[in-house]
Amino acid sequence: APAFDYGEALQKSLFFYEAQQSGELPDTNRVGWRGDSALDDGKDVGLDLTGGWYDAGDHVKFGLPMAYSATVLAWGGLEERAAYTSAGQWTYLKNNLRFVSDYFVKAHPSPNVLYGQVGHGGKDHAWWGPAEVMPMERPAYKIDASCPGSDLAGQTAAALAASSMVFADSDAAYAGKLLTHAKQLYGFADSYRGKYSDCITDAKSYYNSWSGYQDELVWGAIWLYKATGDAAYLAKAESYYDQLSTEPQTSTRSYRWTLSWDDTSYGAYVLLAQLTGKQKYVDDANRWLDWWTVGVNGSRVRYSPGGQAVLDSWGSLRYAANTAFAALVYSDWLTGDAERKRRYHDFAVRQIDYALGDNPRKSSYVVGFGDNPPTKPHHRTAHGSWTDQITSPAESRHTLYGALVGGPSAPDDSYTDDRQNYVNNEVATDYNAAFSGALARLYAEYGGTPLASFPAPERADGPEMSVQAAVNASGNGFTEIKAYLVNRSAWPARALTGGSLRYYFTLEPGVSPDQISVTTNYNQCGEASGPTRFAGDVYYVTVDCSNTVIAPAGQSAYRKEVQFRISSSGAWDPADDWSYEGVATAPGSTPVNAPHIVLLDGTERQWGTPP
Ligand code: BGC
Ligand code: CA
Repeated sequence: APAFDYGEALQKSLFFYEAQQSGELPDTNRVGWRGDSALDDGKDVGLDLTGGWYDAGDHVKFGLPMAYSATVLAWGGLEERAAYTSAGQWTYLKNNLRFVSDYFVKAHPSPNVLYGQVGHGGKDHAWWGPAEVMPMERPAYKIDASCPGSDLAGQTAAALAASSMVFADSDAAYAGKLLTHAKQLYGFADSYRGKYSDCITDAKSYYNSWSGYQDELVWGAIWLYKATGDAAYLAKAESYYDQLSTEPQTSTRSYRWTLSWDDTSYGAYVLLAQLTGKQKYVDDANRWLDWWTVGVNGSRVRYSPGGQAVLDSWGSLRYAANTAFAALVYSDWLTGDAERKRRYHDFAVRQIDYALGDNPRKSSYVVGFGDNPPTKPHHRTAHGSWTDQITSPAESRHTLYGALVGGPSAPDDSYTDDRQNYVNNEVATDYNAAFSGALARLYAEYGGTPLASFPAPERADGPEMSVQAAVNASGNGFTEIKAYLVNRSAWPARALTGGSLRYYFTLEPGVSPDQISVTTNYNQCGEASGPTRFAGDVYYVTVDCSNTVIAPAGQSAYRKEVQFRISSSGAWDPADDWSYEGVATAPGSTPVNAPHIVLLDGTERQWGTPP
């Protein structure tokens, strides 16, 4: 048996991308707790920019890591198609690549215009709740000929070229469309040079283009060459390669970092070695992977005692997984160097196994997979707070299956499952990209069995919407109720926009409805009206809250308070009233769940039993 169930890990890793889907969810989305969101994206610029992936535990759509993730996810599919297919995951991969490719097409409305971000980092991060009820504005940002971004356009070209290859046999028309956009985007990247983060300046604090755009120009040309077979692209890739970064004060190609959203040079070493067999690419790939394994001139990536290769404090497992995937691809290609072939392979298996649970903590770093996995990833929608608080509730309300968390930030194998720690415990589309390819490759070698029925549907942790009530005041001839309309929905989170409450009571013998009056002295929404006859002597009072939105989006947003007084000029006794049942009656009580006060959304009942 394999050390870990790579098939199940792969299955879950793809599910994670569905949890990140923005806009209108496609029928193929399997995440029962997700709903449509961010449906106005692009409206500020007169475009439909809905769709795409939320980047991480936040809800910004950052174009550069999104495109990198799509490219590398597709790369894994192209390398390991047989494994994806036999694991039953090829369709899910295609669904996810189609979803994100559709977004890139929308974001590319003309040849030299590409939208590279929707959502403002600061405003998005300042709020902690589910995507479906986000309250903040989400501006769209672009690059164009007057302020270009060769990195962003080059990476998006790579993503669409790689995806076009995934669709070539099953949907040639779609593949052709993606390739057309890819070629235009590459032309844009190549003709108008610049760093995208100098134009989309909001990205600087999050996904600054540290490495510049040279690597994406090489990478984009490689993927276009792979997709088209046009030798001009290969020639371009090879000529631009010579301007890739080097180690400081040397002419040696960089090797002390790795494949990532920012820098795809390392991926270019591997792909150009594969495509051309030329020694210089082999040398560059070897040096880089030697640094990650045995070291180069006495320098090596840092290793933890438990065996994790730790490049950087932020998202360390992601860098290890990225390197592992590329090492596997390269090792599979390498011939005539049995020692390196084996060493790079074994390194990759070790790093992936570390993430899956072969580590001193004997714990998985993949949510919902293996032993003692993280349960508190830094992820707004999976957490499901209704009060805009990262600490409340304490437990996450959803299982974000398949998400690889950041992991240890130092080479010391230590980690705590702390939602507030986004360095160790955030998840991201770029974390899972190469990871998925590596899992497919290990599945091909060692096997595994994806779960037969996945995911198991989640159950809500209580009523999603409810009415809580207490007697606020009472006297001879009247009862005043203080009620909360509560929305803690999360399956999926949704706003209550047509809310109204009905309170049922029975007239005392001899009292007529015109002796009843309804007043309100404190009311956070709408009006109290009635009585309306229900049946026989039973009447109800209505509090209409359809003038307000009640959403699980913050302490004052998720709950509205209404106070209403029902007075009778004749006899009055609440004790036998239908809705009075279960209401807290002791003086000064806090409102409690009131099972007989009905909450409607329009005409649909959300809570409470009518008589
Ligand atoms: C966000 C994270 C982000 C971090 C640093 C947090 O508020 O939730 O997604 O990685 O800020 O920018
Ligand atoms: Ca770059």
